[in-house]
Amino acid sequence: MDGANGHAPNGSASTSGATFERIQVINDEKQFTPDLTKQLERWGLRDAGFDYNIVAVFGSQSTGKSTLLNRLFGTTFDVMDETRRQQTTKGIWMCRGKDMNVLVMDVEGTDGRERGEDQDFERKSALFSLASSEVLIVNLWEHQVGLYQGANMGLLKTVFEVNLGLFGKRSPKGGANGRTLLLFVIRDHIGTTPLVNLQATITADLNKIWESLSKPEELQGCQLSDYFDLAFTGLPHKILVPDKFESEVKQLRRRFVEKDKEDFLFKPAYHKGIPADGVAFYMEGIWEQVQSNKDLDLPTQQELLAQFRCDEISTAALADFNEQAKSQKRPVEAGRVVEGLGQLMRNWRTEALARYDRDASRYHKGVYKRKRQDLLGVIDSTLSPLFLGQLKNLHKLCLSSFKKEVLDSLKGEDYSFADVVGKARDKWEGAFVEAAKEACIEGPEWSWEEEYTLLKEETQIVADQCRKDETKKMVNAIERNFKKQISEPVELYLNQPSGDMWDKVLKVFKETLEKAESTYLVKAKSFNCTEEENQTALATLRKRAWLVLRAKVDEQTTDTVFLGKLRSHFDERFRYDEHGVPRVWKPEDDIDGAFKRAREETLELISLYSKISPTDSSLQFTLPSEPSDSLNNADEFDFPATLVVFSDSKCLDLTNKFRRDADAYYVEAKRSTVSSVAQ
Ligand code: GDP
Ligand code: MG
Repeated sequence: MDGANGHAPNGSASTSGATFERIQVINDEKQFTPDLTKQLERWGLRDAGFDYNIVAVFGSQSTGKSTLLNRLFGTTFDVMDETRRQQTTKGIWMCRGKDMNVLVMDVEGTDGRERGEDQDFERKSALFSLASSEVLIVNLWEHQVGLYQGANMGLLKTVFEVNLGLFGKRSPKGGANGRTLLLFVIRDHIGTTPLVNLQATITADLNKIWESLSKPEELQGCQLSDYFDLAFTGLPHKILVPDKFESEVKQLRRRFVEKDKEDFLFKPAYHKGIPADGVAFYMEGIWEQVQSNKDLDLPTQQELLAQFRCDEISTAALADFNEQAKSQKRPVEAGRVVEGLGQLMRNWRTEALARYDRDASRYHKGVYKRKRQDLLGVIDSTLSPLFLGQLKNLHKLCLSSFKKEVLDSLKGEDYSFADVVGKARDKWEGAFVEAAKEACIEGPEWSWEEEYTLLKEETQIVADQCRKDETKKMVNAIERNFKKQISEPVELYLNQPSGDMWDKVLKVFKETLEKAESTYLVKAKSFNCTEEENQTALATLRKRAWLVLRAKVDEQTTDTVFLGKLRSHFDERFRYDEHGVPRVWKPEDDIDGAFKRAREETLELISLYSKISPTDSSLQFTLPSEPSDSLNNADEFDFPATLVVFSDSKCLDLTNKFRRDADAYYVEAKRSTVSSVAQ
């Protein structure tokens, strides 16, 4: 025995492929091979599911067991070399049947019953074979039949005992996977005693053994036939009638192969229900239990197997899944909206589950379902951050796209603000919903509605801000236009001082303002402004308009401009006659009287200009003295103060200034009379 783990190296009778490889499942040191899974894979049986069978052989040493198996299944078990006559099979070997999904186990012969150690192995290998095989071939010479004390009967007693331990606790009918076929192959059957007789003898012996077994209380009444089916066949002498031997063996082989024939030996009822990919683990578990002399109970073994395999299958499914999920983790974390992420996630999830289901559903249903739930949990908790990330990124994308679209449209002309915002909103909120729905997968309770609500709130905020900006822009434009419109008429009226000067000014002011207000209202209709916003905007407009007017008044009443106005007013009355002809003063003229009249009339203008007050009180304009301008955050605004053009002291100051100017004209006029007299 060599090889790292004390197992004989895999021999191969043919170089053509793995089919002919064999493996020592249990070596002569009673160790289980670590390579069985690998070997099953090499035999191409790992994915066979339930579509495979197991057969084992029992019998004394050198009764032609290995020879028989090789003939029946095309296997490559060692056969004793005639010239040396020594035991060849140690432990348990396994081969794959040629051209058939059959695992064949060749069990060490058990002749040396004198040796106590062999009895131990016999019992253990019986347990092991029964727990896994559908058909047990019991191989014996014809002349051994009826020898109750013979080695074979001792072996069968062991098999029966062991069986009670294995399956006994279940229903006496054997349960679904509890039945086993015992196929008695009588070797060197000469034919003088017909097979039926041999069969009767063996059956009688078996029943005797069965009765002699000490059975547990609850199994007292159970029959051999509750657990075992029996089949019998004889084989002619291999050396004496080799041709007959070969043809009978061929017949027997047929019964292992032809599934649709009535005498097919691998009946479904015998299958132990272990999926091919779990066979190695299952057998190893059984052997461990057997070795440590623990009670072996198959349902528990099957559940353990299911747990182990379902975990393995789940892990394998997850490995691929994780790889796939990882591929989109980065883009999502980087803020990208991954096109078709939902479909991707659905595919990964379905694939992983399908993979799991394909392999794991063959195992214990309860375990399979439980582990499936676990797998789903892991899958969904891996996908969840991707989903949430996608939503977040979608939210950002849709919001910024909405904003950009609105701003771009507002750059153009002739748009309706409400339409622009409404369309962009429908488009991008719609885009969000569509993509969010796409990202959802059926199963976990994921929802996108909350994020959607947030998005809608934020688009509203953006829309509000844009509307405010737009309103502001519009009010500014209207203000500019207003300024243009009133500039000329106001300048004209202020240059023609008369009692109803302010009436005219205020009239044109009010008319222009009215037009401006209605311009605003027309435009504001498309903004979906609230009533309150409209009132605020209009108030701002009125105040701005008033300030525009006041600025115009200020411009027309600076000291220089205003003194100029007074001067020309005075001139018209003092230096020119009523026909507008310059006066040439003669000594007899009443210069003093004319001067005084012109001066007094002119000085009256100061009080006319000093306050904006119409004679017609219906033209009186007023504004609320509100604390601030909401659009401009301007300072406090005191309307009555704005009506005053010149304060009292200013009036006085202007009066003095003008008087000085007028005095100069007077002196000049006097001097001109003197000079004209002197000429
Ligand atoms: P095993 O120990 O039971 O596996 O027996 P083997 O297959 O190694 O065969 C033992 C010896 O019996 C070999 O020499 C075979 O040639 C011989 N042998 C095999 N089959 C038969 C048979 O049907 N009849 C007889 N008489 N000898 C056989
Ligand atoms: Mg052998």
